[in-house]
Amino acid sequence: MDKNQTYDTIIIGGGLAGLCNAIYLSKFGKSILLIEKNSFPNHKVCGEYISNEVLPYLSFLDINPFDFGAVKINNFQLSTTNNKLVSAKLLLGGFGISRYQLDNILLEKAKENGVIVLQDTVVATHFNNDKFKVETKNNKNFYSKIAIGAFGKRSVLDVKLERDFIKKKSPYLGVKIHVKGNFDSNKVALHNFKGGYCGVSKVENDVINLCYITNFSSFKKYKNITDFQEKEVFKNQFLKDLFKQSTPVFEAPLSISQISFETKNPVEHHMIMCGDSAGMIHPLCGNGMSMAIQSAQIASKLILNYLEGQILSRKQLENEYISRWNKQFKWRLKAGHFIAMLFRNNKMANFLLQVVRKIPFLLPIIIKQTHGKPIKL
Ligand SMILES: Cc1cc2nc3c(=O)[nH]c(=O)nc-3n(C[C@H](O)[C@H](O)[C@H](O)COP(=O)(O)OP(=O)(O)OC[C@H]3O[C@@H](n4cnc5c(N)ncnc54)[C@H](O)[C@@H]3O)c2cc1C
Repeated sequence: MDKNQTYDTIIIGGGLAGLCNAIYLSKFGKSILLIEKNSFPNHKVCGEYISNEVLPYLSFLDINPFDFGAVKINNFQLSTTNNKLVSAKLLLGGFGISRYQLDNILLEKAKENGVIVLQDTVVATHFNNDKFKVETKNNKNFYSKIAIGAFGKRSVLDVKLERDFIKKKSPYLGVKIHVKGNFDSNKVALHNFKGGYCGVSKVENDVINLCYITNFSSFKKYKNITDFQEKEVFKNQFLKDLFKQSTPVFEAPLSISQISFETKNPVEHHMIMCGDSAGMIHPLCGNGMSMAIQSAQIASKLILNYLEGQILSRKQLENEYISRWNKQFKWRLKAGHFIAMLFRNNKMANFLLQVVRKIPFLLPIIIKQTHGKPIKL
């Protein structure tokens, strides 16, 4: 690795958004340095259900998740806090694959394409004379024409960049565990409990992912995750049965806190922001991963045009990205916020479920509001 080289692009963060950008730009011969703070592979708190929207684009990047055990999912089930259930067919459908597996497949593809991957934490970025300087925790400096911020929902860099959302308290925490047990492979379920909801679906190797999100005010009354689950989560009978009748694969559940759904800017200090760094949709929509991959597609296409001289100025690149990002995602984020707000109110959620049970075709219409069409190449 040459410290004095000016890379075409430095990508900060090696999740879905960062890796998809890396694969695309390297496919077109661009020099890419990707800096990720954690080692690969690793588990992430995520429901691990991905909308089929992304399949054409993954195929363009030479990735077929079904070669690696991904599970096809076409059915959706929803339960409310009073244990009433409704089911629907997913019009577009999706698939289940662990982040441990998916991120690693993308990493291998990026490396195969010549991307340089460095394990380090980026602590600061500077933009001077039309060039980025990227500083890492291990006191290294790297230079590039473009910098992509793909560092996820919350990072030290958000603090450093003084982003607005980081100044506000985020009341949500997420918990995930992989288990073995009985669950239909082609189904994704969303079971609600007071103060939160839990997604259930299968990933590769016949493993079930149980992943819930809750607000801190519900959680803080309890000493630990086990108590919280026993006293709150298991009031939903479907969750109680699932948790009690299965065997954990992990030694302990994974958890994260301070999840924020505040609005963010798609361009920050001239950095092109992708995935959760640009905006996060409520996980109940099951669309965050797809958005991360799609935002990378939008970004890397425009960046390639800029590097090859078809986009003439940085200003034009940034404006075009902001406009395309808003066109693609703004409505989904709003719809996601609105649906999450309804589900936070138990009475409202139970009423909605009754309506949906009487008029079943409403559910696919609601789901559609938070999803897009298969990605056009
Ligand atoms: C509880 C929960 C359940 C969810 N369930 C689903 C679901 O079922 N389906 C779905 O589609 N979406 C779901 N999501 C959303 C989904 O997980 C995210 O939208 C997706 O992971 C975003 O990808 P990303 O690449 O933007 O970020 P990430 O995958 O988080 O990647 C960011 C990377 O940046 C690295 N990083 C951070 N800071 C630095 C730094 N300073 N230097 C170097 N590296 C850094 C991190 O280590 C990380 O690897 C869920 C989210 C939560 C919280």
